[in-house]
Amino acid sequence: MPQTAEASTAPLPPHTVRPTAVAGFLLVHVAAVVGVAVLGFSWKGVALCVASYTLRMFAITAGFHRYFSHRSFRLARVPQFLLALLGQTAAQKGVLWWASNHRHHHKYSDRPEDIHSPVQNGFWWSHIGWILSGLYDETDFSRIPDLAKYPELRWLNRNQYGATLIYALGLYLAFGWTGLIYGYFLSTVLLWHGTFTINSLMHLFGRRVFPTADQSRNSMLFALITMGEGWHNNHHYYPSSAAQGFRWWQVDASFYLLWLGEKIGVVKGLRRAPSLAVTQALALARSKLEVTVETSSQAMDDDPLAQLTARWEALGDAARVTAHQALADLEVARQRAAQRLDALQTDYAAALARAETAASQRLDELKAEIEKTRRELYDTLVRLVNVAESLSLSSAVPA
Ligand SMILES: [Zn+2]
Ligand SMILES: [Zn+2]
Repeated sequence: MPQTAEASTAPLPPHTVRPTAVAGFLLVHVAAVVGVAVLGFSWKGVALCVASYTLRMFAITAGFHRYFSHRSFRLARVPQFLLALLGQTAAQKGVLWWASNHRHHHKYSDRPEDIHSPVQNGFWWSHIGWILSGLYDETDFSRIPDLAKYPELRWLNRNQYGATLIYALGLYLAFGWTGLIYGYFLSTVLLWHGTFTINSLMHLFGRRVFPTADQSRNSMLFALITMGEGWHNNHHYYPSSAAQGFRWWQVDASFYLLWLGEKIGVVKGLRRAPSLAVTQALALARSKLEVTVETSSQAMDDDPLAQLTARWEALGDAARVTAHQALADLEVARQRAAQRLDALQTDYAAALARAETAASQRLDELKAEIEKTRRELYDTLVRLVNVAESLSLSSAVPA
């Protein structure tokens, strides 16, 4: 789908990083490289590095990302705390800081407001610059009320390096210098860059399957390295799904472990992208304009919103209709409504998770909001499709 750039009123932040933050970041790299050079190669070290990486990568992708940022499944309070604690051993600051910034990324993906978009501010800024700049050190609690209400999570977030220091010490006490160098320093450096490539490379290189409003991409290689996060275009298309691999061959190790967690009863309510929406969008992407009457009337009948979205995507692609200002404005309204709908659905899942303490009034309010936003999106799509179809350009698009 053609991109609709929105003019930014806020100036871009100055692209400078704090020397002390850079020094700390580089020092960990130096410790890893020099440490490995001094100790020499060892299989024990490799095994410790891989195990420590896998454990913590799971806590970041399944925990910080899919649970805390997107609420794509439910956990009881103790496992919730333990997952946050394990995530903080990865030295990626506090759990609430991480989730809050990530929700911001999805709200403004690749638009001027996005704090780590390589499209807006280049590779290095999106990879690590934004973290080392000190501009975003504070946690914006307004984006995470569902998490900030837990005092134990706020405490963890305040003590952002406690868990990682204890983890490093534990590795040293258990496995000596090999534990510290391979299991902590080398593994942490790999973990950092593994996670950061999702913000940087996965908005630059790979395949775009779904016509999302951002530049997110899919990559098997990065899905293997990051336990499933490489299906980033899938994820931006359907952020509230706990599974990021949508097809059987799209390897998603984090999801397999969450699925196991569901089987043993720790994980509840794993959310998945509706197969109907995925199938439609994939079919559309594969054959661009071949949205035939058969597929639309049979598969899409029960979801008019998905049907209209697919129709609009076909028209938008074929007719390059964003050249027309009226359509461009409507398209902005459509993207906003679609994003709002997704955010509301995330809020709804979060509210459901704490329904035992809160009154069901909040759930009813959210339900009403979701219904209202769905109607808004529906109306906008109807107008878009009508206008696009009435243009002579659209005569080339099969209905
Ligand atoms: Zn992204
Ligand atoms: Zn996300």
